Amino acid sequence: MANSKFEYVRHFEQNDTLLPNTYIVIRIDGRGFHRFSQTHNFAKPNDRRAIDLMNHCAIQVMKDLHDIILAYGQSDEYSFVLPKKSNLYSRRASKLSSTVVSLFASNYVMAWPTFFGSQAIEYPPCFDSRTVCYPSDQNLKDYLNWRQADCHINNLYNTTFWALVHDGLTETEAEDKLKGTFSKDKNELLFSKYNVNYNNIEPIYRKGSTIIRLRQEVTSISPRNGEPVTRTKLVPAAVHDDIIGQDFWDKHQNLLQ
Ligand code: ATP
Ligand code: ATP
Ligand code: MG
Ligand code: MG
Ligand code: MG
Ligand code: MG
Repeated sequence: MANSKFEYVRHFEQNDTLLPNTYIVIRIDGRGFHRFSQTHNFAKPNDRRAIDLMNHCAIQVMKDLHDIILAYGQSDEYSFVLPKKSNLYSRRASKLSSTVVSLFASNYVMAWPTFFGSQAIEYPPCFDSRTVCYPSDQNLKDYLNWRQADCHINNLYNTTFWALVHDGLTETEAEDKLKGTFSKDKNELLFSKYNVNYNNIEPIYRKGSTIIRLRQEVTSISPRNGEPVTRTKLVPAAVHDDIIGQDFWDKHQNLLQ
């Protein structure tokens, strides 16, 4: 083979096979989305179009990669969970991470017009990606709890911050006013000054989005006899539940195995 004298370079590749029998989490995060959100006039604190687009991309990733059991997203990030038994790409970290992130990013650009209409996408968005292994159910739950707690803390802060700014404070003044405040102070400020009960804000903003495979009845026309046939299918769909409490895990017991 003419190629064989070059083939030794293959041995320079490093083995990045992930630990067996562990959950694999692939987390992607938008690069410089503070700027991206400004350039594209995202509504603050939460642009619903941008969240719906992120959720659409996560659903497309799950439709393509059937091993993924759950995805959790908030802001410009999404975490995808593979079960302990998964052997996707022989559990090679760079293959998994790069496939998920490029699939997500290409969907983001392709579906942009569906969510942003005639508003053009000004420059190519970019996402980074990493893989982490979690050996126990509790580790995985704690990981997801960490992301959902982060969503809550940021959303409470951003909701209060933007209420102050929309009320006429400069961004620096709003930042100063919130320095050193606790959650209860922000809740109180929102309620007393702006008549906003934080707990009544839509769960999609307070809890983020969790994509799981839900049973749905799908009707299609049989190619054999032209008759409609109804089957149940597992379809990835977004819910906005609390995943920190035990209820979610009791309701979806098949997730942890
Ligand atoms: P890095 O490259 O380090 O990730 P970043 O600018 O992307 O930097 P993040 O910490 O990831 O910083 O924060 C994401 C930013 O994107 C936040 O500042 C947030 O304001 C903005 N953002 C993301 N999604 C939305 C949305 N749906 N509506 C409004 N702003 C959003
Ligand atoms: P994998 O997912 O394992 O990479 P693959 O289908 O992408 O599978 P490759 O070994 O990467 O397989 O080969 C790329 C394929 O894409 C080739 O079969 C080739 O026919 C096709 N291809 C790529 N670029 C071109 C091109 N410019 N013109 C025609 N065919 C192309
Ligand atoms: Mg980042
Ligand atoms: Mg980011
Ligand atoms: Mg982020
Ligand atoms: Mg290829």
